[in-house]
Amino acid sequence: MADFPKEGMVLSGDVAVGREPVPGDPVAGVDRIHLEARLFKLGDTYHMDGALDADLTLSCCRCLEPFRFHEQIPVRHALQPAGRELGPEAFAYEGESFDLGAMVRELVEVNLPMKPLCSEACTGLCPMCGANRNRTPCHCRPEAEGPMAEVLKKLTKGE
Ligand SMILES: [Zn+2]
Ligand SMILES: [Zn+2]
Repeated sequence: MADFPKEGMVLSGDVAVGREPVPGDPVAGVDRIHLEARLFKLGDTYHMDGALDADLTLSCCRCLEPFRFHEQIPVRHALQPAGRELGPEAFAYEGESFDLGAMVRELVEVNLPMKPLCSEACTGLCPMCGANRNRTPCHCRPEAEGPMAEVLKKLTKGE
């Protein structure tokens, strides 16, 4: 970032976020994250203004199936020298380098849906037989009459 052009510069390209999926993580895969932004400098602070286009594979919180998810995330952030108190929405840069991947990863993570759904109408997994009810409608009865209820009945009768 030493010879930064006065007129700023355009950032346009795919960003590698180096993100490994972890168990229980709603992100099953990162397909592509594209950044289009302008970067300009005021004093020792850089300002990034643009947007991220994130193509991800998420796991549905109801049926656990992976599904494609696209999100556009506005990027309006200041990059300040590390070691100073950061303003709101600001990221730190150290010396001449800035970890763009880490910033993008954080922005994608904070913008993930709280409860990712493959579709609003997803019927999820059957709590009794575990079937994906989107694909295999099962004939389990509602809770009170299922096998568990039978077991409970027997237990309370002392059989
Ligand atoms: Zn689902
Ligand atoms: Zn079932």
